Amino acid sequence: MNNYYYDPGSTIFCSGIGLVIYIIAIIWATNVAKSRGYPSWYGFLLGFFLSLVGVLVASILPRKKACPHCAERINIEASICPHCLREVNLRE
Ligand SMILES: [Zn+2]
Repeated sequence: MNNYYYDPGSTIFCSGIGLVIYIIAIIWATNVAKSRGYPSWYGFLLGFFLSLVGVLVASILPRKKACPHCAERINIEASICPHCLREVNLRE
């Protein structure tokens, strides 16, 4: 005997909302990561695997910026580039 109540309408509705939140989380994480100086695939993967937690992770990433000498992305707080070992000042 199987007396589980199954309502396909509400199941589709719930998974639809979940999917929308999931897609928003991916776009959000991508934008947050981009604004912190990371490539967009980085935020996309965070959103893809972690959903809304990925947005949170992206928002606590250290800010990065391209080194003016070698164009490598480095921490915005750095005073010496770890790639080309030249002095940099990325803080405005
Ligand atoms: Zn450099």
